[in-house]
This record gives sequence, structure tokens and C-alpha cells, in this order.
Amino acid sequence: MEVCQGQVASRGIAIGKIFFFEEGAAKDESYILETPQKELDKFLIAHKEVIAQIESLILKTKDEIGEEEAFIFEAHKMMLQDLDLLDFIQEKIEQNYGAISSIEMAREYFSSIFSSMEDEYMQARSTDVCDICNQLIKNLCGSAQADIQTPSIVVAKDLTPSQTLQMDKNNLLAFVTLEGSNSSHTAILARTMGIPALIQTQICENLHGKIAIVDGNRGELIIEPDQSILQSYQDQIQQVQETQKELQKFKGKETFTQSGQKIMLYANAGNLDDVQRAKDNDAEGIGLLRSEFLYLQGNDFPSEEKQFAFYKQALQIMEGKRVVIRTLDIGADKQIDYFGLEKEENPALGYRGIRICLEQEEIFKTQLRALLRASIYGKLAIMFPMIISLDEIQKVKEILNEVKQDLESKQIDFNKEIEIGVMIETPAAALIAQDLAQEVDFLSIGTNDLTQYTLALDRQNSRVAHFGDTYHPALLRLITMTIEAGHQYGCWIGVCGELAQEERAIKFLIEKGIDELSISPYCVLSIRQKIFNLF
Ligand code: PEP
Ligand code: MG
Repeated sequence: MEVCQGQVASRGIAIGKIFFFEEGAAKDESYILETPQKELDKFLIAHKEVIAQIESLILKTKDEIGEEEAFIFEAHKMMLQDLDLLDFIQEKIEQNYGAISSIEMAREYFSSIFSSMEDEYMQARSTDVCDICNQLIKNLCGSAQADIQTPSIVVAKDLTPSQTLQMDKNNLLAFVTLEGSNSSHTAILARTMGIPALIQTQICENLHGKIAIVDGNRGELIIEPDQSILQSYQDQIQQVQETQKELQKFKGKETFTQSGQKIMLYANAGNLDDVQRAKDNDAEGIGLLRSEFLYLQGNDFPSEEKQFAFYKQALQIMEGKRVVIRTLDIGADKQIDYFGLEKEENPALGYRGIRICLEQEEIFKTQLRALLRASIYGKLAIMFPMIISLDEIQKVKEILNEVKQDLESKQIDFNKEIEIGVMIETPAAALIAQDLAQEVDFLSIGTNDLTQYTLALDRQNSRVAHFGDTYHPALLRLITMTIEAGHQYGCWIGVCGELAQEERAIKFLIEKGIDELSISPYCVLSIRQKIFNLF
């Protein structure tokens, strides 16, 4: 038995086998070039595997999203079977370039042919050819995606949000990383899924396949535990299940403090499974649906239809309860290759969130159209991220009105009374909350970013985390100012950052008059119970 210490990013206990996830090892470090025949054999195996992966993706997409969306993967499969591509690679391998370099050459050659074509559709195929060649390379180098087939504890150096999102959630028991930070989106995802997660863990090599316990309360990864330890953790899991059963009596109730102050207790979500979890745990609404996770999951921009289907389903699951969908907030740790954004020195202060949407209007309008069309299926509210000025929200409203007029002219139905709100996640937004509140229906305080920007503490950098304090007076003042300013102009005010589920913060926020708290779906009932016992 061995115990590795880590920091808790998400509480809970998990027992299972370790899946050791290694990012596709760089070929120059670990890839050994063999004879042309052996390289060809390796290529043919990788080719077969990628085809099988694509076929299962086609089935999954057809099943979960739709026939039309699955077409992109059908096209990938056809491209992979294209004889010109296969002959090109085979010829290069025979010339002793090795499988990986030969695929790289094919990628450059065919993608440049596609990009130089006149036709826009054919130009876009350049991305597809790059994509399939990269998949072949990844298969040859090792897994870049944790393809978890059985319930597993995923252990990795670090995980990006998109890697996390691609994993099969049904088989994910816990995350343990060597690096990582508590307010990164990967940690947030673990909390939303209700699974334990450790970051900054002193992990050793050769863990793959070993039985382990993740103690997300003490911050320990226990490898190959003794029988007595295993038994005591199994007992703890049972106790947690019993507590969960007890909490069921808080279902179907509204959330009030003892003195009768009502709180709208909502949940955060990143995908439809989270929305379903929120519904199952009796959240009174969705306070933050991070729409960018839909963009992070694919290899290309999600079409209007795909987005429409996703938003519609989210609204239908919540059956008339309010669903606040945040428009695309990429950038910083949420990077998407197909956006082709330049690498930045300071991505958290860079080209992200609403800045991208205001400059790339077509992407924004596609999302707004999909949202408005879906709005007739429930109670949708739209929220805009990373706002720093009045101009920005006014411009956003202009674009939204253009989209509304366009839909009206085409007699496409949408909810004319749709609520809009801004996230207060920059000090600038908090300081001009009075002005912003006059433009919108609600303000939602994003304490994750508000903390990093107010205290000048990179939320991705665990090296500086201990310099910060989530209860820093500057933050508490900005929050108080926002609540007061919002109420002065008739807005409802929520908190959708991680602070909303901390017991001490909840007390403070309720005292200051907060209207809504949006938290992990799994915490809804326990926090409702706590609020019932307040004041
Ligand atoms: C926040 O910044 O508090 C927030 C909720 O948004 P995200 O964590 O996605 O940046
Ligand atoms: Mg944010």
C-alpha cells in the first residue's frame, strides 16, 4: 500500500482501477523508427483503429445528436479510405520516412491542396484532412484521449477541459492530477459531476491498472490499499449514500431561510447530463449553462441546428424552470483548435468571451439565433460573459435585436420577453454595476474570474493560490456593491462562481440580499438543508 498526498479539488470518495492517462507522447522522444515493412504494419493497425473509433463516434452522434451532425464523421471515414491518401502515405513509408512522418507529409500535402481551392466548402475540408491525419498520429504515439472502457480513476499529469469532456462520464470515478488548480475548469467539471478530484498530487509512475482509493476529503490517493482500509472506505461510501437518502426529504420544496428570505437555488451545468442531474437533484433552475462546452466537444463549429437541439433539450429537461444559458466563453484554459486563435502571452487577459463574439459576429449570431428559436420550449434567459463596459452590453443588445428582427421577418417564433443578463466577473463590471443593471434583467456574479482579476491571481496557477483569499475584503465589497446596484434598478442578482457553494459565503451572500445561488447539481439538497437552518 502506498499513500500519495494531494490537494482536494472536489470532495468525495471513489474506489476503483487506475487509468493512467498520458498525452500522446512526443514522437521524437519515444517513437522508434523501424523497417519500412514494420512501419507499414503499424500504420495499417492505426488506420484500422481510427476507422473503428470514427464508426463508433458516428453511431454515438446519430444516437445523441442527429443524423445530420453525424455526417461530418462519415466524411472523415470516407477521407480515411481515400486511395490517393493511402497510396501517398504508403509510398512515403516505402521510401523509409516512417509512419508518422509520412502521415505528416500527407497532411501538409492534401491540406494545402484543399486550402488552395476556390470553393469554400472544399477549402474547409483542409481542416478535416488535418484532423484525420492527427488522429492517425495520435494512435501511433499513444492515447491523447482517455478512452475509458470500464469504471476508472483517471490519473494524469494534467487535464484540459476538452480532454475531460471527451471522457465517458459513466466510467469516470475520480480525477487525480500531478498539476492543476482548484479553480480550473477541470476541477469545476469534477465538482459539477459530483466526483472526487485531487490536484497537485505526488503521483508515481506505473499506476495503470492498480486498485486505488481516492479520498477527496483528506486529499489522498491510496494505491493498492490493505483489506482493512478498503473495508473502512467501503463503509464510508455506504454512509454517504445513506445521507443522500436522508436528504431526499428536501426535494420538491422551495428554499427559504428561517426568517422567510427566499433563495432561488439553481445549478450549474456544462452539458445535458448535468442538466438532467440538476433536475434529478431538484435544482430550481439552471443558473449557468456553460455553452462553450458544446463547442469544446467537437472538431468544428456546432451548427445552428445542433445548438438549437441542445438548448431545446436543456429547456425541455427543466420543464419550465428558468435556464440561464451563457453565450460562448472561450479563451484562457478553454482553447478550441478550430477557432484558429493565436497563442497569447496572457490568455486570461486576452481575446476571450464576449470579445470574440463581438468581433466574429457570425459565430455570435448563429448562437443567438439557435437560442432564440429554442426559447419557446421553456424559460430561457441569456447571459453574456466577460463584460467590462456599457458599450459592450449595448452592442450585444443591438446584435440581439438584429437577430430578433431577422427571425420576425421570417416568421420564426421565439419568446419576445426573453430575459438577458451579464456576468459580473471583472472588477470593471462590478464597479459599473449600476450602469449595467439599467440595461439588463439580471446580474450573475462569476466569483471565479472576479477573484482572479481583483486579486491579480491566475486561477490556473496553483503556485500563487495561497496568496489569495476568497473572502478578501475587496471581493466582498465588489459583491456587495453589485447586489445593491442591481437591486436599485430592479435586477435579480445571482452568484454562479464556485463561492456560491461555500457555507461561509452563503451566509454572507444571503445577509447581503442575494436572490439566486447557482451551485453543483449534487449540492442542491444539502445546501437547501443548510439554508433552512440559517437565521
Ligand atoms: C466565473 O468566472 O465565476 C464563472 C462562473 O465562469 P467560468 O468559471 O466559466 O469562467
Ligand atoms: Mg468566468
